[in-house]
Amino acid sequence: MKYPYQPRKPGPAGEVPPHPYEPNRAKCFTPRAARMMLVCPPMLRPALLALLVGCSGTASDGTTDAPGSARDASIGSPDAAPGSLQGGSLTVSWMHGAQNCGASTDPELQVHAYNPTVHIIRQNKCRTFEAPFIYVIEGSTTALMIDSGATNNTTTLRDTVRGLIGGKPLIVAHSHAHGDHVAGDASFLGQANTTVVARMQPAIQSKFGISMWPTSPGSIDLGGRVLDVLAIPGHEAQHIAIYDRKTGLLFTGDTLYPGLLFINDWATYRGSVARLAQFVATHPIAHVLGAHVEMTATPKQVYPYGTVFQPNEHVLQLSAAHVMELDAALTAIGANPGTGSFPHDDFVIDPQ
Ligand SMILES: [Zn+2]
Repeated sequence: MKYPYQPRKPGPAGEVPPHPYEPNRAKCFTPRAARMMLVCPPMLRPALLALLVGCSGTASDGTTDAPGSARDASIGSPDAAPGSLQGGSLTVSWMHGAQNCGASTDPELQVHAYNPTVHIIRQNKCRTFEAPFIYVIEGSTTALMIDSGATNNTTTLRDTVRGLIGGKPLIVAHSHAHGDHVAGDASFLGQANTTVVARMQPAIQSKFGISMWPTSPGSIDLGGRVLDVLAIPGHEAQHIAIYDRKTGLLFTGDTLYPGLLFINDWATYRGSVARLAQFVATHPIAHVLGAHVEMTATPKQVYPYGTVFQPNEHVLQLSAAHVMELDAALTAIGANPGTGSFPHDDFVIDPQ
């Protein structure tokens, strides 16, 4: 996600001892609670948030399966999903690089089935320290892939995705235009039944029917599966979020994930997160899934920039509560963030 930025503020060095994953906060943070946050005066939001996030206790990752398998074919017992949402499993231990990459036998990609129609793919840290997460969502007629990863000169991602979806038409979209999310495009361009959405705003607007950028929501129907598409520029000018109505998964790219949230355009980012918070307040959210993991499992501790070994990393998933926490924090910081960073338990706000 830092691409093309240079490291400025390395986090505390080193690998910290194993620490149990934090409980999943999604269980107690309902849309009603989110609406309470929105109507709450900004000064009182931190206190309300502390109350809301303190009420959970159900870990979603108590057990893990073996990391590093090219395909995690087993679908674990689904997590509880709000309302009538289709559930899925995040019971997975992600491959997380190696102390000695030369001796690592981890595959190029790890594939985890959230459920039969949503797959999460992670790239190997020994090949790219960014180790982004890539998402494949299938409807009855079409599949959508969010991001093409950080590596090129390989067809493994293309072949893996085709293995998942067969010959079904595939749309390759991007959370945003930074290199670690689009580098794999070349292997998809010109392929049968494959459309690569161009990285710039006009193409994104047109593909997803976003009439007014960035304030009008767009959508796409994959066949019995509608995805909402929200323009959320700020980290990068073309950034979008995608919401799957079937599962309640909200894909937030580099705008929100457990790591360093670099913000290129502060005012624009604040507006985008405010709109995202409004959306979260009115939709059931099962999980918030970003594009990287850079936090350790210890609150407020981030791995140093460029690390290729994260043995104690934070879980991938965040929750609706984190969207509200981010929005409240941006409001509290105000229009002029200065040059310092703002560490939270599960992410670090880092104005450029
Ligand atoms: Zn990124």
